[in-house]
Amino acid sequence: MSLQERTQRQHALERAAAVVAQCRKCEIGATRRNSVYGEGDPCAALMVVGEGPGETEDKLGRPFVGRAGELLDKMLLAIDLPREDVYICNTVKCRPTVDVGHRLANRAPTPDEMRNCRPYLEDQIAIVRPRIILALGAPAAKSFMGEKFSITKQRGRWFEGPNGTPVIATFHPAYILRQTGGAMTEVKKLVFADLKQIRARLNEPVPAPEQKPEQHSLFD
Ligand code: URA
Repeated sequence: MSLQERTQRQHALERAAAVVAQCRKCEIGATRRNSVYGEGDPCAALMVVGEGPGETEDKLGRPFVGRAGELLDKMLLAIDLPREDVYICNTVKCRPTVDVGHRLANRAPTPDEMRNCRPYLEDQIAIVRPRIILALGAPAAKSFMGEKFSITKQRGRWFEGPNGTPVIATFHPAYILRQTGGAMTEVKKLVFADLKQIRARLNEPVPAPEQKPEQHSLFD
């Protein structure tokens, strides 16, 4: 990727993030501390899409920086992908919360919130143009594959996502962290199998871009 292309994409992402920072389409736009647009390599081959920012992400304005984020980093390293080499974002850019009296607790994003945020996600995909999208957990997977998608039955399979981008889903790292003992080992095995599929696909040669017929301007 040329430096010029990388810089252009970086600027496009920064402009889009500034728009998101002003967004108040949902009520969570008023309760968030920071919007969490996304971060990573603007030319990444892999885009990771989670559900929505949690408390730590909301505090820092960065995706996947809490406990689930630490595990995500390890999952990516297991297939030789340092975090900086991928692009990480979420289906919604504000922390979905519920007031439980003395504090705000995390909750899953509502369908309306996901719909409102969808153009921002699609924009990110169009700018980064990843070779593969990894959806983490059922809500992110459903946002690409439809409501009927079953994370337990259909994780680890390839689907076609926005702009024809291949999408694969696996269990969310927060779900892995909620398991104990043998159950956790089992889930980790399944996730590793899914990740290995991503590694194998990334190892395939990148198809050459379609050759456009030579264009001559009037002034050639
Ligand atoms: N869980 C998510 O789905 N996204 C984050 O950014 C953090 C935790």
